[in-house]
Amino acid sequence: MTLSQTVAVIGGGPAGLMAAEVLSASGVQVHVYDAMPSVGRKFLLAGRGGLNLTHSEPFDVFMSRFGERRAQLEPMLARFGPQQVREWAAGLGIETFVGTSGRVFPTDMKAAPLLRAWLHRLRAAGVQFHMRHRWLGDASLAAASLRFATPTGEALVKADAVVLALGGASWARLGSDGAWAPWLQARGIDVAPLLPANCGFDGAGWSEHFASRFAGQPFKSVAISFTDSQGRRFARKGEFVATATGIEGSLIYAASALLRDEIAAHGSATLLLDLLPDRSAEQVLAAVKHPRGARSLSSHLKSRLGLEGIKAGVLHEALGREAMQDPAQLAATIKALPLRLVATRPIDEAISTAGGVRFEALDEVLMASAVPGVFVAGEMLDWEAPTGGYLLTASMASGAAAARGAIKQLGL
Ligand SMILES: Cc1cc2nc3c(=O)[nH]c(=O)nc-3n(C[C@H](O)[C@H](O)[C@H](O)COP(=O)(O)OP(=O)(O)OC[C@H]3O[C@@H](n4cnc5c(N)ncnc54)[C@H](O)[C@@H]3O)c2cc1C
Repeated sequence: MTLSQTVAVIGGGPAGLMAAEVLSASGVQVHVYDAMPSVGRKFLLAGRGGLNLTHSEPFDVFMSRFGERRAQLEPMLARFGPQQVREWAAGLGIETFVGTSGRVFPTDMKAAPLLRAWLHRLRAAGVQFHMRHRWLGDASLAAASLRFATPTGEALVKADAVVLALGGASWARLGSDGAWAPWLQARGIDVAPLLPANCGFDGAGWSEHFASRFAGQPFKSVAISFTDSQGRRFARKGEFVATATGIEGSLIYAASALLRDEIAAHGSATLLLDLLPDRSAEQVLAAVKHPRGARSLSSHLKSRLGLEGIKAGVLHEALGREAMQDPAQLAATIKALPLRLVATRPIDEAISTAGGVRFEALDEVLMASAVPGVFVAGEMLDWEAPTGGYLLTASMASGAAAARGAIKQLGL
């Protein structure tokens, strides 16, 4: 062991912190640099939603969520996967539980105690933290001489290896701004365009009346289906939210990669919304046609089908007053209401980022072929996955893998 070997980990999100953990266990001196005043800000934000750490489904199903990048990620996740995430949390004194959907959360659903315990353990292991150090993507990376903007001016840092774990390009105010993409490209590291993943969409064509009345309200117990122009199909029950200009929320995020790619290829994507997924088309038609006497159509739909509020509102949006009176058209629209989406919401609002450093630009231990000694981990790599704990698990797994790569490179 050579104590003079130092590794700079740039970016203190879950990927960088996991890299620091694995590196420090090997005996190298680890320095973590982060642009923000404190590390793990997006991790803490994830805690607001309960901190979905990982997923309990069988490993093969878990891996299928990574789509085209499964092959590259599988070796890393085989070493540090869902079970290891739970053991790692337990090692920090944080027990986890499996929610009804199979998602795994800390028992207290919070990120702060876990992050606190983790940082405590890292510091105790000798990891040194340098906050408010913004790496400037300097051209002297190859010589492992790194330039940082700090509150007291620029600092030059030397390291024997570097792990970049700079995150994606969403929620820039928490630190991950994607500024690294052109810098790495200029160094000959191929970067796929950064795109929003698990994002909302604009379109849907809401009237001002609908938007002012229903923006922020959920569509509950609905289903959406979408088939793209290549025949790939998404269909699922769930819920989502109307926004002033479109739609967002868990069910939409789940379909967002397909919708995003279809919009990029064809300018729009039209999904079908089923307002009553638990009733067949025949049942809906029969209920719509049922004599309603003196009752208004609205109260008929409410009493026979439970359609009111935002669900009734969206039917009016889609059909207009006249077509609402046509039972066949009304029933068909209740089961398959078209929503045409024309744009993703800006990447800064997205839960995660697709695109990033292409695996083809890295060797099997995540070292950049164009810049030996530089390793890349976390969301800045070119993979994407739905929500469900896959993002944190793969970020940490790749952080651990990059660290193992650096250890190997240093001959330890
Ligand atoms: C609202 C929300 C909820 C989420 N909930 C979940 C969830 O429940 N489960 C889940 O699995 N995932 C969730 N995610 C996604 C998950 O948080 C991210 O995928 C994960 O944090 C990525 O880890 P990372 O370490 O790669 O990057 P990040 O966590 O983004 O960390 C990158 C770090 O790099 C630093 N940095 C960037 N540029 C520089 C620079 N030039 N110099 C120095 N430092 C720099 C940043 O300040 C930041 O600290 C959520 C995301 C959001 C936005």
